[in-house]
Amino acid sequence: MKQVQHYINGQFTQGAGTQQILVTNPANNQAISTINCATADEVNQAVQSAKQAYMSWREVPVSERARVMLRYQQLLKDHHDELAEILALETGKTLIDAKGDVWRGIEVAEHACNIASLMMGETVENVARDIDCYSYTQPLGVCVGITPFNFPAMIPLWMFPLAVACGNSFILKPSEQDPMTPQRLIELFIEAGAPAHIVQLLHGDKAVVDQLLLDSDVKAVSFVGSVNVGKYIYKTGTENLKRVQAFAGAKNHCVIMPDANKGQVLNNLVGASVGAGGQRCMAISVAVFVGESKQWIDELAAKLAEVKPGLWDDPDAAYGPLINPQAKQRVLNLIAEGKAQGATCLLDGSEFTLAGYESGNWVGPTLFTDVTPTMGIYQQEIFGPVLCCVCVDSLEEAIALVNANPYGNGTSIFTASGGAARQYQHQVEVGQVGINVAIPVPLPFFSFTGWKGSFYGDQHAYGKQAIRFYTETKTVTARWFDDDSVSGPNMTINLK
Ligand code: NAD
Repeated sequence: MKQVQHYINGQFTQGAGTQQILVTNPANNQAISTINCATADEVNQAVQSAKQAYMSWREVPVSERARVMLRYQQLLKDHHDELAEILALETGKTLIDAKGDVWRGIEVAEHACNIASLMMGETVENVARDIDCYSYTQPLGVCVGITPFNFPAMIPLWMFPLAVACGNSFILKPSEQDPMTPQRLIELFIEAGAPAHIVQLLHGDKAVVDQLLLDSDVKAVSFVGSVNVGKYIYKTGTENLKRVQAFAGAKNHCVIMPDANKGQVLNNLVGASVGAGGQRCMAISVAVFVGESKQWIDELAAKLAEVKPGLWDDPDAAYGPLINPQAKQRVLNLIAEGKAQGATCLLDGSEFTLAGYESGNWVGPTLFTDVTPTMGIYQQEIFGPVLCCVCVDSLEEAIALVNANPYGNGTSIFTASGGAARQYQHQVEVGQVGINVAIPVPLPFFSFTGWKGSFYGDQHAYGKQAIRFYTETKTVTARWFDDDSVSGPNMTINLK
């Protein structure tokens, strides 16, 4: 069994912690690696080492920082398949899905290569006679990332390449459920030439997170994970006067207009709802059928019934097991609750199991109709392969339903009408909208822009806005000549 390694103070180490966490293969729940949770002393060492490294890294020319990112994105591509296999084994994702997880992260590392342009400030000449004004973008110091289990490559890569390219140092605390992928990401980062102490990797659970949230040397915290933990991290981090952004859970609706292309709708709904076992923050978990489109629900059930979960290396598997037995039990409880509360279960995956892997965390595709907003299956993020159908009479009713939902991560509409699509895009209170695209995840030159209960903070961690999050703006107002001589500039500095 592998021993998961921290990376502290420039050294890979299994750590001295006595609290252990077993990492398991979700297909059979057998242990594949062990974590010794970081001790308080190790957390402290990581913060102090990162603080020290920041002081010299912030002085490294931006083009040299970009060159590290150039080498890193190439190394990630060279190791794409290897990373995907590590990831698939510890998450249960199918290989194709695991490759997608890694690839979406590589795109962020590519974006970080452009850091010089991304960090450019602004200038205005002659704000007063002989006085010019300009701004610089400067790093913050030690930044921390706390990441979830469901994208163990993509989400750490949302954070540390951009934060480090900006001139910060970074401490990554990945999910304790799939730590081997982030460990490999950090090994490759060092191999790419990142200074040894500029990143630190700490494994563990709440205790490690809490210590980082309280440490006054930590300047910024990026979190991605569940709603309650996100709220807690946002409150605790900001109470301790840190910059915090917390990406949280979701309940994403797809609106189906009667004029949509039926084949396109059904194929997209199947992939977007049960793909990755529904363990995506952008999964579609509610299908809102407008008017006559509800006649397609039986066909949707038939298509979902053909979807077969399986092992990560089975090319015919549509998705894998859920991450752990607790996650499976939670989904089964919600399915049972849906039935008890009067929803019609057209397809029930509760009993599904994979021959030879009966001890794994399997749940088959599940479809409910006659779902109402008061039911538990509508209100909670299920995070499993379960799709809820709601029927409404008009687009206006669909928009009102989506806007009343407390979450606002993603949504989509399928329609042939430009007018309906425009109205939906304009009026819906959700941060990421797909038009005839089920899962509208932006590329890193945009930002990942969840709204409402799906995000706490102001700037978003990923992509364009991440540069703003990981930097501070300094505005300089400069008088270049004084009245008596031209011997040197007379500058006043305003720190914002
Ligand atoms: P989680 O909240 O359980 O864990 C996320 C991280 O927080 C982990 O590193 C974990 O160790 C840490 N953590 C857990 N409990 C904690 C506590 N009480 N105090 C401090 N730290 C704690 O989330 P998860 O189950 O790993 O991930 C799934 C969730 O993430 C889903 O809700 C999903 O919607 C969400 N998610 C959101 C986005 C987004 O962009 N909005 C993206 C991916 C996942």
